[in-house]
Amino acid sequence: MSKEIRFNEASALYIHIPFCLSKCPYCDFYSVEYDKKRVDLYWAALFQELESLIKSVDNKLLRSIYIGGGTPSLISGEKIFALLKKIRSSFQLPPTAEITIEANPLSLSEEKIIAYKRAGVNRISLGIQSFNNKFLDFLGRNSSREKNIDSIKLLKKYFSNYSLDLIFALPEQSGEEFKRDLEILSSFNPPHISLYNLEIHEQTPFYQRLEKGEFKLPADKIDAEMYNFAQNFFLKAGYNNYEISNFAKSGYRAQHNYLYWRYNSYLALGPGAAAFNGKIRYKNRADLNKYLKSFLADQKVEREINFLTKEDRMAEYCFLALRTRAGLSLHQFYLNFKEDFNNLYRDSVDKLKNKSLLAESNNRLYLTAKGKLLANEVFLVFLK
Ligand code: SF4
Repeated sequence: MSKEIRFNEASALYIHIPFCLSKCPYCDFYSVEYDKKRVDLYWAALFQELESLIKSVDNKLLRSIYIGGGTPSLISGEKIFALLKKIRSSFQLPPTAEITIEANPLSLSEEKIIAYKRAGVNRISLGIQSFNNKFLDFLGRNSSREKNIDSIKLLKKYFSNYSLDLIFALPEQSGEEFKRDLEILSSFNPPHISLYNLEIHEQTPFYQRLEKGEFKLPADKIDAEMYNFAQNFFLKAGYNNYEISNFAKSGYRAQHNYLYWRYNSYLALGPGAAAFNGKIRYKNRADLNKYLKSFLADQKVEREINFLTKEDRMAEYCFLALRTRAGLSLHQFYLNFKEDFNNLYRDSVDKLKNKSLLAESNNRLYLTAKGKLLANEVFLVFLK
């Protein structure tokens, strides 16, 4: 049973939709197979968790809502409308608040796009992953180049603020194939792009297939070349690489993730969703059946609670800030923690500077181009 965790304020709310049409073999996000009846029950349970969340927040001002998953675009416009209406009635949302929903080309119809817009959604993040049918099949996306292109065209009719996701460093992906994906993507001039290399997570079918030698990932050198190529490609096309994996046209930075990277508090709803109040992080148990049972029994959602020490928080603050182009301000670090950054990390940071992984100017630290490729090596030094 979970304890009451209070939030003085929280700028962002994440809502997890744990349903997908089928499971992509590389994915480690929590989701189960879509089932309409369970969605109806889930919506009632979500409202119950929302009611108790409302009571735990003092300053109810939200700057961002992110409906992620899973596949949120499986959910009807009416349900999203009702949920956002309830949130609006309890929280203050300034007109500039970002309200994003993740969508999959397979479940995003014109009707839904219109309904989401009417519900108050002002940003859609569309999972494209590739325009190459061979790689879409490999990734288990059940989509096609044509379907992806049609979805983007439809989305552009109604939304000026949207993001497209692309995966690279796929097995045996040639430089030409990757370039073609980038060209098709940029032909739509999307205001925001997220670019991820294929990562293999334990407990996914891809992990087992990789272990059995059924496919190979490209060497790190090829992965790095592709990333560098994409960086230059997007730079020339007018994008700002404002975070390691994210590129935006001016004014289209994703506010939601930026709040995470700036170490703001955030709220969460749904199984597998995580919240942070500045000192404590908790994660709702990633189990839809348990979540629904706790609703039917009128009990609190089961949570894994993590009390962060000051050392944990300082480390997290550093490596989250370093993910961004704005970097880590040593002055802001002092204001937040009343600790001198140099006393804590100077020796390690100087070693990283000598290895050309970090650069420093005006009392700020940044990842270099090389540091972006080896970011985990940099982040490790803060986790003493
Ligand atoms: S659709 Fe998205 S969340 Fe669902 S299994 Fe595939 S990658 Fe994961």
